[in-house]
Amino acid sequence: MRPDFGGSHTIVSLKALKDSGRLPVLWLVRSLKLAYHIASECFKLDLSVLISAGRDRACIVEKNVDRDFYCKYRRFQCPFFRNVFKTRIPKINIFMDYNMLVEGARSEGFCPYYMEDLVDADITVQNYFRARRKYFKAIVIDEVHNIFMPREIGFPFDDLNTIHTIINLNLDKSVGRIFERFLRAIRYSKTIVVEEYFDSIFLDELKGLMYQYVEDKRVSRILGRFLRLMQYNTVLNIERERIIGYKPLLPIQTFPQTIMLTGTWFNTMDKFLPSSFEKISVDFSNDKPEAMILEDLTTRYNDFDYKMIEEYRKFIVQMKLKARDKRILIFGSERVLQYFINLADLYEPTQIPKNWRGIMMLKARGRYAEGVDIPADIVVILGCPFLPPEVISRLSKIYSRMGFEDSWSLAATIPMLITTLQCIGRARRDPKQRPKIILADERYGKYVDELSNYLYIGEIDV
Ligand code: SF4
Repeated sequence: MRPDFGGSHTIVSLKALKDSGRLPVLWLVRSLKLAYHIASECFKLDLSVLISAGRDRACIVEKNVDRDFYCKYRRFQCPFFRNVFKTRIPKINIFMDYNMLVEGARSEGFCPYYMEDLVDADITVQNYFRARRKYFKAIVIDEVHNIFMPREIGFPFDDLNTIHTIINLNLDKSVGRIFERFLRAIRYSKTIVVEEYFDSIFLDELKGLMYQYVEDKRVSRILGRFLRLMQYNTVLNIERERIIGYKPLLPIQTFPQTIMLTGTWFNTMDKFLPSSFEKISVDFSNDKPEAMILEDLTTRYNDFDYKMIEEYRKFIVQMKLKARDKRILIFGSERVLQYFINLADLYEPTQIPKNWRGIMMLKARGRYAEGVDIPADIVVILGCPFLPPEVISRLSKIYSRMGFEDSWSLAATIPMLITTLQCIGRARRDPKQRPKIILADERYGKYVDELSNYLYIGEIDV
């Protein structure tokens, strides 16, 4: 476990792995943006690093098709794949990333994606979901709390019509009828679970279609995205003309030498770790920011009515008047923020301006909710950021069928608490940054014990 809010866990772990002779190491991250920070820590210890990407970034086939499926189906006809075995394997002195391999591959004609698997480095950094094909003495899963968040994938509702047409043109009528049943269900129920509508035979038929259209740039991309959405037992929910797929987490698989690092951990998550795991906590209790819970507000689905919206509006206006030119960062779900956008100076901007002032509103599970640094004086979490209730109830059923104990907290509480800390962490990347935190939902009162490991909860003056 690592100290929260920007500690030096990376270099400490690297040094321990180096000194104990546990190299090479596979370092798994949620986003490759983090990989360059890890590489800079490796330089300090003289460790060589490879930043390895998936097919989407590393494939050099010129066609604008779904590269993942294209490679799975056409790899053995791909000249770049064959050339991997005829090309000298590049040596890393200190650093190499997939961009360097792609550059070399363009002149020498080998596949950078498969070459990544042959290059030796002390530390290989890659995404959680990239295939693992090499031998490593240890595996580090960085920011492991991400594994407890259902993976969200968006899909435009309109693209279902394209898939419907392709099915009708190419497959048996009975397959078309299965798809129509699915279309009706998602239109009217708004939330469904994939396995209730599609079985493996149907999905195999779709994969066959994908094989047929793998060179067609429009169809292959739509079908490829749809097939990825259908993988595992995804819960589908319609949110503003888009289908959002929530992929349930899979039981954590570990190897004897697996290290998990995170600064976002709640005791209730312990029970989901393999029993052989040893937990080491580093206590940074002197360094916690001050926070308060607002008692009379809630965004709970049944209580978030016109009156409650007005109460929230009053709270935002008063806070703005009181805080004057301070930077107020407000996180909330799209469902909640839509009522207050007119009070914001910035709403989900394309870029975060350096010297921003006033009120900035961001989506709680949006693109700025993790990995970015947004200095602010006050951070407000506008309502507990739970997943939609229908999604929670379906995820919970899936988890309980999978044999997880306490499936409700896995589907509801843990993702909500992680999202809350991640949002706060945007303004607290460095211990010197001490924003005031306002948890604007009475439901936070139930989680004071969990949150007290990270926040001093009491009264604060903004
Ligand atoms: S072998 Fe490499 S270059 Fe060829 S399709 Fe696959 S990823 Fe792309």
